Amino acid sequence: MSTSRYQPSPFIRGSLLLHAGAAAAAAAWPELWKLSTLAVAGNHAALTTFGLIPRSAVLGPNITRLPDTVVNQDAVAITIDDGPHAVATPKVLDILDVYDAKATFFCIGEYVLNYPDIAQEIVRRGHRIENHSMHHSHTFSVPFVGRLRREVIAAQDAIYKTTGQLPRFFRAPAGLRNFLLDGVLQRSDLQLTSWTRRGFDTVNTDASIVAKRLVTDMKPHDILLLHDRPTLLSEASGASTESIAPILQALPVVLQSLRDHGLSAVTLHQAIPPAVQ
Ligand SMILES: [Zn+2]
Repeated sequence: MSTSRYQPSPFIRGSLLLHAGAAAAAAAWPELWKLSTLAVAGNHAALTTFGLIPRSAVLGPNITRLPDTVVNQDAVAITIDDGPHAVATPKVLDILDVYDAKATFFCIGEYVLNYPDIAQEIVRRGHRIENHSMHHSHTFSVPFVGRLRREVIAAQDAIYKTTGQLPRFFRAPAGLRNFLLDGVLQRSDLQLTSWTRRGFDTVNTDASIVAKRLVTDMKPHDILLLHDRPTLLSEASGASTESIAPILQALPVVLQSLRDHGLSAVTLHQAIPPAVQ
C-alpha cells in the first residue's frame, strides 16, 4: 500500500469546498438554507453522473489510451475482462499465441481463486492480470468506502497470491464508479483504466459486428475491450461457450487487422509506466 497522501481531482476538491461553503452560508444566513441545499444536491447529482460515464476523468485520472511514447509507436492494448473462464480463457490464450500477441486480462478476484491454474497459465504465456474487483458486484459504484477498499484489496491479494504478480491497473465493474474510488486506488498504487473502443461483446452475439466495432478506424495507442466469457443472454440460456463467446471469433479478426496495419499488441504493463505518487 502506498504511503503517499491522496490527491483529490480538481472537481472533487471543488465539491469539498462547495460543501464547506454551503454549510458556512447556512449557518451565517439561515434564510438561504434552500439555496445551500440546492447547491449541495446539484453537486451530488454531478458526482453521481460523472461516475456513470466510464471514460470520464472528472472524478480522478482515467487512462483511455496508451501514452504517446516512442516505445508505443505501433502499439495497441487488447484488454479482456471478466475471466478467468473455464472454457473461453484457454482458447483465447491459444488464439493470442498464434498471432504472438500479448494481452491484459482484467480478472475478477474470486474467479482467479476458482481457476488458479488458468490464471497462472495467463501469466506463464507472457500476459498480465490486472484488477477488476473481487466480486464484480453490480452495486460496486454505491459509495461505501470500506466495501470499495475491501473489493479492491481482496482482488489484489487473490491475484498476487495466485500468480506472484501485483496488479498496477484497475478497471471498475461495468466502468461504473463513484467519487471515493480514486482515493482507494491511489492508496493501492493502482491506475484506473477504461478503454478507447469496445466491442459490446457481453450483449452482442454477432462476432463480426463486435470485431468491426473494434477495428474500424483503429489507431496506434488504442485500448480495446473484449470479454473472455459468453454473452449475458447466452450464459442465461445455458448454450455451449464455444458457440456463444463472441471473442473466440472476433479476436482472430482483430489480431489479423493489427498485423495488416503493422501494429503490435502489448500489455498495459509494458506500455504505461507506474504512477508517480
Ligand atoms: Zn466486467
